[in-house]
Amino acid sequence: MATIDSYDFKGKRAIIRVDFNVPLNEKGEVTDDTRIRAAIPTIKKVLDEGGSVILMSHLGRPKKGPEDKFSLRHIIPTVEKRLGVKVDFADDCMGADAASKAAALKPGQVLLLENLRFYAEEEGKPRGLAEDATDEEKAAAKKAVKASQKEFTKKLASYADCYINDAFGTAHRAHASTALIAEYFPNDKMFGYLMEGELKAIDKVLQNPAKPFTAILGGSKVSTKISVIENLMKRVDNLILGGGMTYTFKAALGGKVGQSICEPDQFDTALNILKQAKELGVNLVLAEDAVAADAFSNDANTQVCPSDNIPDGWEGLDVGPKAIDAFDKVIGESKTILWNGPVGVFEMDTFAKGSRAIADSVVAATAKGAYSLIGGGDTVACINKFGLADKVSYVSTGGGALLEYMEGIELPGVAAIRK
Ligand code: AMP
Repeated sequence: MATIDSYDFKGKRAIIRVDFNVPLNEKGEVTDDTRIRAAIPTIKKVLDEGGSVILMSHLGRPKKGPEDKFSLRHIIPTVEKRLGVKVDFADDCMGADAASKAAALKPGQVLLLENLRFYAEEEGKPRGLAEDATDEEKAAAKKAVKASQKEFTKKLASYADCYINDAFGTAHRAHASTALIAEYFPNDKMFGYLMEGELKAIDKVLQNPAKPFTAILGGSKVSTKISVIENLMKRVDNLILGGGMTYTFKAALGGKVGQSICEPDQFDTALNILKQAKELGVNLVLAEDAVAADAFSNDANTQVCPSDNIPDGWEGLDVGPKAIDAFDKVIGESKTILWNGPVGVFEMDTFAKGSRAIADSVVAATAKGAYSLIGGGDTVACINKFGLADKVSYVSTGGGALLEYMEGIELPGVAAIRK
């Protein structure tokens, strides 16, 4: 398999799938350029080695072709600033202009293609189907877009001599630019530095963790985390479950959870997870107490109560002090820590204490030599809110991709490069 460090880019055109899906304000300015900065080392490497670069990405979720608010044109000044190189633009990724500009690239030059998702072929999903479309019409539309997706992918591939995937955030999608294009570069495809770093960090935790290994899973619902819980259960020594899911477990065990988030259809699953933990000898830690509120609001009245005895009309929105102490003890003894999902509604300061305490415990364990990996959109926002991102071992840029990788699913974007 080719690698970015061993490949000879001299005189070559590299098409790089980056994740430039950055937030823009109403004026079209980039409000957080983390993802752009994350892609710079890979782009620089190709340019420094005498190659040229074609950048491709999606931005947002356009559903009906080109729309100015989803145009990648808006991000050019930020990319130029971060890269220190002028960036040319092709305003239609399939246009004659894109092909001629790509063909004319000289070493050291960079071309950015317009948003790939202006074409349904990027995702390979039909668009514009009538709401009352029959199953046959849906199947025919799907077949048509799949057929034209081949041409779309082939054309993108024709712009370059080699392909680099550096978009971990979309690696769980089998789209034209994230997976299908790789087949046109059997010996000239590789991961970029960001992808390499992500895979190394997650593999270190999943394949070869120093023990004790503790996973902390939070978030709102059990239903979205079951597969992750089940896969991690086989690997960890301690499993801390926090956030809204706590109450499904407590209610399944016969507790009273008031108005807290609760999924009765997941009671059997929750009981089964508890049983599995026992069988596997995993120390499963649930929050013993909760900060309950009389409204879903930062200004609500609050009280600390047992997480299985929450009064009617009140909802558990954060973990309580006893839970914080219990979590801290387990995290403090860990050598490997994986954290996905806040344990309270951290967006409101009143309910951010539990997540802050977890962050502090993880930072302290990391300072003592533990390896800590944090990931998932909300968790990253959470660690950034506390200004502690540089005090843990690795912060993953992946949301859905990270979760699927943790579930043990082979990501299409990863498989396409490795096979
Ligand atoms: P998820 O996308 O499932 O990882 O959920 C993340 C969200 O869960 C965050 O926005 C938190 O505000 C929310 N959350 C965490 N704890 C609770 C809770 N006890 N009740 C309701 N929402 C919660």
